[in-house]
Amino acid sequence: MMPDPTPRREIRIEGRVASRGIGIGRAFCLTDGRFETIRRRPAPVNREIERLDDAVKEVLDLLDQFAAHSDGKRPDPAAEIFDIQRAIINDSSLIGRIREIIADESCNSEWAVNEAAAEYRERLRSSEDEHFRSLLADLDDVIDHLISALLDNRQPPEPPKDAVVITRELRPSTILNLAKHEPKAIVTEIGGWTSHSFIMARELGIPVVSGVRNALKRIPNDAMVAVDGLWGQVIQEPAADTVERLKHYDLPSRKDLKKGIGHITTADGVSVTIAANVDNIEKCRQAIDAGVSSIGLIRSEYLFNIASRYPGEETQIDVYSKIVGLAGEKRVCVRTFDLNMGQLLPARAGRERNPALGLRSIRLSLKHERQFRIQLRSLISAGGCVDILLPLVSSADEVMRAREILADEINALGIIKAKRECPRLGAMIEVPSAVLTIDAMLAAADFGFLGTNDLVQYLLGVDRDNEAVADWYQTLHPAVLKAIQIVVSAARRSRTPLVIGGEMAGAAYYVPILIGLGARELSMNLSSMPGVAEIIGSIDSEKAAELIAPLCTLGTAGEVEDELRKIYAKYWPELLLTHPSTRPFERSFSSKN
Ligand code: PEP
Ligand code: MG
Repeated sequence: MMPDPTPRREIRIEGRVASRGIGIGRAFCLTDGRFETIRRRPAPVNREIERLDDAVKEVLDLLDQFAAHSDGKRPDPAAEIFDIQRAIINDSSLIGRIREIIADESCNSEWAVNEAAAEYRERLRSSEDEHFRSLLADLDDVIDHLISALLDNRQPPEPPKDAVVITRELRPSTILNLAKHEPKAIVTEIGGWTSHSFIMARELGIPVVSGVRNALKRIPNDAMVAVDGLWGQVIQEPAADTVERLKHYDLPSRKDLKKGIGHITTADGVSVTIAANVDNIEKCRQAIDAGVSSIGLIRSEYLFNIASRYPGEETQIDVYSKIVGLAGEKRVCVRTFDLNMGQLLPARAGRERNPALGLRSIRLSLKHERQFRIQLRSLISAGGCVDILLPLVSSADEVMRAREILADEINALGIIKAKRECPRLGAMIEVPSAVLTIDAMLAAADFGFLGTNDLVQYLLGVDRDNEAVADWYQTLHPAVLKAIQIVVSAARRSRTPLVIGGEMAGAAYYVPILIGLGARELSMNLSSMPGVAEIIGSIDSEKAAELIAPLCTLGTAGEVEDELRKIYAKYWPELLLTHPSTRPFERSFSSKN
């Protein structure tokens, strides 16, 4: 055979490191396709009808969950809307017509749903009755729910082993599924360092480069791809010497989790406790085995992500009891569902103009108490030393209301009689209003948890998941340092326990800042612990306090970074190698201009 006269040249595409490491493999392009409705021939038709029935059931369940109203006293416009939507599915002949189309045309459900919807839309539009015309928007909503449920009911994608997955955006449920296939690396078009999917990828040790514009258009399926998750590059058709170089260019070895990692002493003898963020039972076991001080954060919505719906009470009791059982005497902190409307009803994603500021987290729980009560009951029933943490609290009265509901459920279950310890209630400090009313917040709560990921987002008004503004997501902004200082001082004054979490707490580079500002309890992923513990052991807390306090008075993140580098070069040079990104991202937008 003749040699190929034009050997393919490697193509380098810039991106941003989201999870460090190197991965080389064949591209597996994962298109989102949420609402694509291609006509397919189903085999056999009755299976397709079953698929449709499953989707209808799923949509009815979701609408039930959403419309469910605990007190039933006040008229709730949202509940009424969802009642109407349920009626469209239950009472009209819409579903019958979809079935007919599947059978007559031998086509797939998504296609039939759209065909039937077009007919119904026409009928409503031409109706004389204004009431019927006003149902158009609800019909569209129902159709979106149905198609979205049908598409989600597809078999999850199955990349071959060792693939490099190319996708637009990585959802937490997608990474959960992908992890089973052990991809070599992942490339995404969008997503920020603190997005939950990337947090999970780092914990799983899967290299990720994000912010690769038009990755799905540029990288063909099956192309050979090398992902350089150290410098943030994706190399398509890498040359042999590039592959060789990358293979040898390994990560600084991942240190092992040592026993007794929960209590570390600084060089001047101050104790710092290390708690674990875990999102499954196995990780919890590993954390407890390693001797963490407590389970500091369970993002309970991972249970929602597994099934794309609220987990039932039995499932929750089972999971929480297992974790509490593993933890024994140690505290376990479960954050109540930190969900937004887009996750709850994917068809409604995009309907809220600002989902990050919308009906989400504690607001969603208080607005739709039924699921909140189920979760609280499950947590109380799990027994043990459970702490309940409320996400995105913006006012102390949300904590007070949550406490009333908790007391209600405790009374209803007669838990006091059973002599179980009453759970402690904590507030996540993640938004500026929580920082500025921190005394009231800590008076209402039993403990505080500073969520640095969201704190940066809301304090600086910069979307943590939006690649286009990633340069503005500045962990070292003086406003962030000042906010941490305010919260830590308030907790000390009121003697309220305070945990610092988020990616900042798990990055060795930032740890002297947190210790210098007075933090004494950090919660992080297991993979971050060895590096952080080593740094804590090597720094003097008083020196850190003296050096870090002046940084809070500087004007920009760039100035803080410059000063910090000088401090590190003089006192802790090993820290210069631990910057979470290999590039000086705190100032990257100014240096590019
Ligand atoms: C945070 O915001 O820092 C946090 C710990 O919560 P999450 O990353 O889940 O929003
Ligand atoms: Mg948060």
